[in-house]
Amino acid sequence: MKQSIREALPGLDLVLGWEQGWDALHATPLFIRKAEDVDRLILGPTCVQSLAVQLPSLKGKKVGIVVKGCDSRAVVQLLRERLLDRAEIILFGFGCDGVVSLKRLTKVLGDLDSVTSVKKTDDRLVVESPDGRREAAFDDVCAPKCLDCAWPNAVESDHFAGPRLEPRPPAESKTALERFEEKSLDERFAFWKREMERCIRCYACRNACPMCVCRDKCLAVSRNSKFVSQEANPSESFMFQLIHVMHLAGRCVSCGECERACPMDIPLGLLRAQSTAVTEELFHEQAGTDPEAPLPLLTFKTDEETIEERD
Ligand code: SF4
Ligand code: SF4
Ligand code: SF4
Repeated sequence: MKQSIREALPGLDLVLGWEQGWDALHATPLFIRKAEDVDRLILGPTCVQSLAVQLPSLKGKKVGIVVKGCDSRAVVQLLRERLLDRAEIILFGFGCDGVVSLKRLTKVLGDLDSVTSVKKTDDRLVVESPDGRREAAFDDVCAPKCLDCAWPNAVESDHFAGPRLEPRPPAESKTALERFEEKSLDERFAFWKREMERCIRCYACRNACPMCVCRDKCLAVSRNSKFVSQEANPSESFMFQLIHVMHLAGRCVSCGECERACPMDIPLGLLRAQSTAVTEELFHEQAGTDPEAPLPLLTFKTDEETIEERD
């Protein structure tokens, strides 16, 4: 990977990757502009953030980006939507076997301070700090999306490093959405009301989403919005979430960044999973997996096989 980046760098304005943050458990985005920056690049279970969120604001520059499978789906979807220019993007892909969820890791191993090393073996995560060595089953501490990752390898890449990995079969017989849908409508509504009472309208979920591209035009922060006010109460917060879900219908690449970024630990992935299940059933496709496929919501067919006509 490092060699490929070094060779491509003279033709690029920058390459986006990850480097170690303040300790070995926290990776932060790395902006590679010079050959010596390449040495700071890391790949591994702490490379959590999707760097694709940076790309729309870098339009006009020639940018390289290091991508896991889920990150590459966001890039592919942005390319499909003509929000990026393929000639301006170089993809450095790799096969990813999972990233850590800091929230889950802390629940299992407790607070971890000044971590000096994080290593993943086949099915364990080993963390070392001045307090000693702690380890956990990787499935207990990884991001939930990794438990049944169907796209571990970069979907599209100009350079691919390392072996291609097999998709993971679902770890459980039912998805979180299927389990949630077993509840009655009243129970589901009460659940979301409780969750939305905790929302502080910080917009971290929106800002972390690589597919949410309106940015400073977002109607949720408009001074003159006709759809949703900026009040932080359950109904307005839920309205904001529903707007986000609708704007992501057929476009959400299930990267989980919205849920990861939420400081209140609200299970936003459930809402996105519902809309994704509906659009996948209607259009028989998963967002961000085929750069050439037409966009379902911008494609007209005289006969839609999966949509019933009304009289
Ligand atoms: S969902 Fe797949 S590609 Fe994304 S971080 Fe998890 S294992 Fe890696
Ligand atoms: S809505 Fe969430 S899961 Fe979907 S693309 Fe945006 S950040 Fe990823
Ligand atoms: S990140 Fe969480 S708390 Fe912040 S606006 Fe989104 S749902 Fe609300």
